[in-house]
Amino acid sequence: MLQNIRVVLVNTSHPGNIGGAARAMKNMGLSRLVLVDPEDFPSSEAVARASGATDILDGAIVVGTLEEALVGCNVALGTSARDRRIPWPLLDPRECATTALQQVELGGEVALVFGREYAGLTNDELQRCQFHVHIPSNPEFSSLNLAAAVQVLAYEVRMAWLAAEGQPTKMSKLETTAMLNTQPVTTDELELFYGHLEGVLVEIGFLDPASPRHLMSRLRRLYGRSGISKLEMNILRGVLTETQKAVRGESHKRRKDDV
Ligand code: SAH
Repeated sequence: MLQNIRVVLVNTSHPGNIGGAARAMKNMGLSRLVLVDPEDFPSSEAVARASGATDILDGAIVVGTLEEALVGCNVALGTSARDRRIPWPLLDPRECATTALQQVELGGEVALVFGREYAGLTNDELQRCQFHVHIPSNPEFSSLNLAAAVQVLAYEVRMAWLAAEGQPTKMSKLETTAMLNTQPVTTDELELFYGHLEGVLVEIGFLDPASPRHLMSRLRRLYGRSGISKLEMNILRGVLTETQKAVRGESHKRRKDDV
């Protein structure tokens, strides 16, 4: 799907920006770069800024006009840092990504079009695009670096693509650790904890067995509400054990890695 989305850079002045755009594209899984009349390409500066994404630069197609860059495209989305005089269907980057993904899911071809560093896209070029895309930047300083603008749109395209593929947006290792940490405690473990807690509260004189005044029910309600994980339960049990040792005057030197 992503191979049906091309990034078109119009009349770029700085080869470093072409390299930066290539890197941003490869990071997000985009591969097709089309350069309209670049001022300096190929260039070693582009290679340096691509930081390993040289395959994207090697595969880049260089054409003379935007019209040629858009051949075979079903939808072109033109980016702009500022308001233009003619009102046009305007999307934010997220909507742009959804529109692009919808189009490629239908088997279509999409172009994300970016303008010159100093002058952006001309009105004529923007009017060749069915949609305009504006990154909602600070209105008093609205123009992003070209490669940074490519990064923002490429990222949104990736997020939309991951969602469409049903793929996770979090790294699996982190997810596994997070799952272990959030593995819920069982009811019998909770009961053991309540028993331990009650014993300690009596021992430290906070709970008077002759006059319990719903203390344990209230604590059960509190802990029951909090969805304690196994890891958190270990911490609570550790606190209770150390409290008992302290009350009983036992040594309670603890290793830092006890928990
Ligand atoms: N002075 C130019 C700015 C060009 S910045 C102008 O006023 O248009 C170079 C390119 O980066 C723009 O043509 C556009 O493709 C992209 N870009 C920069 N900031 C953007 C923004 N806030 N929203 C969308 N695209 C942006």
